[in-house]
Amino acid sequence: MQAKDLAQLAEQFGSPLYVYDAAKIQSQYQRLTKAFSKVEKLRINYAMKALSNVAILELLREMGSCLDAVSIQEVQLGLHAGYSPDQIFFTPNGVSLEEIEEVAEMGVQINIDNLSILEQFGTKYPNVPVCIRINPHVMAGGNTNISVGHIDSKFGISIHQLPHLLRIVENTKMHIVGIHMHTGSDILDIEVFLYAAEILFDVAKNFKELEFLDFGSGFKVPYKKDDIETDIEELGKKLSKRFNSFCAEYGKDLTLIFEPGKFLVSEAGYFLAKVNVVKQTTSTVFAGIDSGFNHLIRPMFYGSQHHIENISNPKGKERFYSVVGYICETDTFANNRRIAEINEGDILSFRNAGAYCFSMSSNYNSRYKPAEVVWLNGQGHLIRARETFEDLLKNQISLPVETAVV
Ligand SMILES: *Cc1c(COP(=O)(O)O)cnc(C)c1O
Repeated sequence: MQAKDLAQLAEQFGSPLYVYDAAKIQSQYQRLTKAFSKVEKLRINYAMKALSNVAILELLREMGSCLDAVSIQEVQLGLHAGYSPDQIFFTPNGVSLEEIEEVAEMGVQINIDNLSILEQFGTKYPNVPVCIRINPHVMAGGNTNISVGHIDSKFGISIHQLPHLLRIVENTKMHIVGIHMHTGSDILDIEVFLYAAEILFDVAKNFKELEFLDFGSGFKVPYKKDDIETDIEELGKKLSKRFNSFCAEYGKDLTLIFEPGKFLVSEAGYFLAKVNVVKQTTSTVFAGIDSGFNHLIRPMFYGSQHHIENISNPKGKERFYSVVGYICETDTFANNRRIAEINEGDILSFRNAGAYCFSMSSNYNSRYKPAEVVWLNGQGHLIRARETFEDLLKNQISLPVETAVV
């Protein structure tokens, strides 16, 4: 997308605004399927927690994607967006047995990540096919908050518990149709991924009724020029070959599954905000925007460095700025960042705003959540209206009149 298109959208729909470039989502989707074209059966389950707007889900459905959901509400959103139950996987962590039962009854593939629930579920529903999430104890995370495969992680069933796991399966006669792992976000090193895959293959050999192997996600995307990213093409070449040889060994063409969130939507997203105030202090120049961590929390939560451009003055002379929000708490988006000269009223564009940005937004400081727009075939389509005062009041209930504390 070009700066002038973004500037026009900010004018048309106001700020702050999330914009998603449909063509970029599509090209990422095709890049992934192409990298694994040598695998007979490939399935992409979009990890919808990254960005769960129904229009985005519909777009991905048309591209051929399936879904990965982590809550029953996400499953319901997926069904609403036209996915059939068999196109949805449920991969929760720490949810109740009741929620898992309810989702299984909808005909959605469930993925169980602890022995306690596995035993209870298998005893009650031995005929419902189940996928198990294992923890291969491989460290592949960029940030400790988002690395989920290591030894202290709460995710998955430890490979060291395999004997216990097998005993539960044998005793309950339940059907294990898939093995899953998700080693965490930000995989840089393909060798680490392939190493974890070997562990998955080893575990898989213990099960006779498998239909698929799910390798999770965690592909790293570039945040700025020359940033390192997961070499999907290289991973595709190496893992496809190994996967096919495993299938030959196993005696069946299994389905290879990935469940990317960030990889599909991160780079497609732009967050646009207006500069309310430029404030010169003794140490820096602050650019204060009409947003804060209520709309984009990643820089404060994960230390994410979103590239920032001044799309109102793209050719301006670069200066150093600290870009901050309007929340009554420190909410710094960027420190000492070189940005084309900023004037009050300019629109700043934040890159990589597709994944875990709107979906993590809140109403903190009683602000409205931003509007969302999809850029499709050279045109902006509103896919979520900006909130209004009614939205803030929704579900709130005043006490009866003349109630006093006594
Ligand atoms: C969040 C999540 C993903 C997606 O991770 P990305 O880093 O966004 O690709 C995949 N699988 C599971 C189980 C997840 O919880």
